[in-house]
Amino acid sequence: MTSPHYLIIGNGAAGVSAAEAIRRRDARGRITILSDEPYRMYSRPGIAYYLLNQVSEQQVMCRSQNFYQTHQFNLLFRTVTSLDVTHQLVHLENGQTIAYDVLMLATGAKATPPTFPGNDLEGVFTLDTLDNAKRIVASSRKAKTAVVIGGGITAMEMAEGMRRQGLQTHFLQRGSRLWPRLFDERESGVVEQQIRHEGIHLHYNEEIVEAYGKNGKVAGVRLQSGREIKCQMIGAAIGVKPNMTLVHGLPIEQQQGILVNEHLQSSLPTLFAAGDVAQAYDRWTKTPQLDILWPTALQTGQIAGHNMVDVAYGRKPSATYQKSSPFNAALLFGVHVTVIGRIGVKSDRGENEVEQISHLSRGASQIWTAPFAATYRSAWDNKGDNSVRITVQDNTIVGALLMGNQELADPLRHLIDQQILVPTAETLLATGSQLPHVIATLWQSHLSSPPLSFSSSAQNNNRFTS
Ligand SMILES: Cc1cc2nc3c(=O)[nH]c(=O)nc-3n(C[C@H](O)[C@H](O)[C@H](O)COP(=O)(O)OP(=O)(O)OC[C@H]3O[C@@H](n4cnc5c(N)ncnc54)[C@H](O)[C@@H]3O)c2cc1C
Repeated sequence: MTSPHYLIIGNGAAGVSAAEAIRRRDARGRITILSDEPYRMYSRPGIAYYLLNQVSEQQVMCRSQNFYQTHQFNLLFRTVTSLDVTHQLVHLENGQTIAYDVLMLATGAKATPPTFPGNDLEGVFTLDTLDNAKRIVASSRKAKTAVVIGGGITAMEMAEGMRRQGLQTHFLQRGSRLWPRLFDERESGVVEQQIRHEGIHLHYNEEIVEAYGKNGKVAGVRLQSGREIKCQMIGAAIGVKPNMTLVHGLPIEQQQGILVNEHLQSSLPTLFAAGDVAQAYDRWTKTPQLDILWPTALQTGQIAGHNMVDVAYGRKPSATYQKSSPFNAALLFGVHVTVIGRIGVKSDRGENEVEQISHLSRGASQIWTAPFAATYRSAWDNKGDNSVRITVQDNTIVGALLMGNQELADPLRHLIDQQILVPTAETLLATGSQLPHVIATLWQSHLSSPPLSFSSSAQNNNRFTS
């Protein structure tokens, strides 16, 4: 048998981890990686830090110059324009056609463009590629004022980044506080304080109704309140969507993303998908969900690559993907924020109301709310700007939000992911300021001697201090 040809569209976390997994199992197979961005693999989360002047372009790169050569990966900077899944061919924009034995789609996600009139003026930016980040930096040199819209992490990163580029920055929020679908009031307040400390002008209950220009370039925005802000740049981070252009109209099962089974295989056996573009079974909601996060892209890419080798050699896929609890760590205006699993946001209607549960993926539009009826309760503790909030359903912690001190991030990730039994929410609530210590104890006792025994009279030995 001749060596199979593995074709991977996408040179990001999912595509490259798939290529590495293939090479570990198949030393001879031909591996081609296609990318429409002219860079070796880089950290997409890292472009936010590039905008903050905290890392250089070189530091954003995740793989060395000779990595592709060493692994015999043929990296081509070419845009794929269409797929012919019947004849197993991909068509490139330069007219070239490439045949494959097994195909992997790892095309990522794209920022949703804003829709206000004037959205096509020069000076309107999204933040999803290194090139966009570089354009923002270059434009900032000639601009004075920027207006940023969006409610999630990327919007905050953009506002902070534009401020660090020396711009007068206005940050518009549709609601009356920051990120109400995830933060409680106190948490919103902590971040708000930092935003004001950075010198960013924060406007609540505001949005852009129109951008106007001069010579095709942004000159200002009109707001819902009737106010006007003169500006030369607009940053929009209003959501992200899987990059599905190549599969539209093809006989491949798809919803918001490409539907894949537990082997990351699509409804066509020789086509795999991983990363932001894949919609895989989610054990928490028991439905296929998108998961626009870096660790998911690495993990799914690896499993898909492993299974592509099986399929190339006529075997059944042998690696199974089990989704971990979603985990996102971010530095927002100097505040460390980690969100794990599903977070309950209390309604304003009283202590015993059923909480609304949110799961964070990337981009405000990717927060989903649990469709099932279940009772969740939150327990929390804070010391100054450090806080921990957990969401408990029956006897398991299903989610956590940490601000400031991050010591409990790994313990909580473990307890949530492994669905370790814990005392009820009521018992945890009663621990008051001992909550962080109780969490640490639960984790330690589970590591050392499962099944765990729990005493609610925790020692006065709090590791979670500021
Ligand atoms: C600003 C920012 C900050 C982020 N921060 C975090 C964070 O803190 N934590 C976290 O977990 N996640 C974060 N993310 C999300 C994370 O970066 C993504 O989930 C991850 O990069 C997805 O990897 P991927 O391989 O699926 O796709 P991508 O990294 O997007 O790669 C897609 C690849 O497909 C290629 N491609 C697409 N279409 C074509 C085509 N037609 N032809 C050829 N090539 C094509 C592209 O060139 C690219 O190489 C952030 C994202 C952004 C934008």
